[in-house]
Amino acid sequence: MDARLGDVIDDFCVKCRRLTNHSVVSLLNGAAAKVRCRTCYSDHDYRNEQAPPSKKDLKKAELFNAVLAGVAPPPAPPEEAADGASPKKGAKKPAKPAEA
Ligand SMILES: [Zn+2]
Repeated sequence: MDARLGDVIDDFCVKCRRLTNHSVVSLLNGAAAKVRCRTCYSDHDYRNEQAPPSKKDLKKAELFNAVLAGVAPPPAPPEEAADGASPKKGAKKPAKPAEA
């Protein structure tokens, strides 16, 4: 769908710090390129309704990735290997009743 100049669309406004109504003020290939916040009237590039990542978020993502990279996958549980190698309780012969 092609946007038109003056169309009112939702976008994230960094000044309002939330999704607000925006008017399309510039088009690029039929899509909104620049928009103007209808609340604070500031112009900015159309962000496709995405909030720009804050420095805090970037830092958080960095830490998260560091943690992921640092944690090795846990070794396979030993029970599984033992089950295949040694018989379970049920495989053992039942104890003989004590003879009188
Ligand atoms: Zn705004």
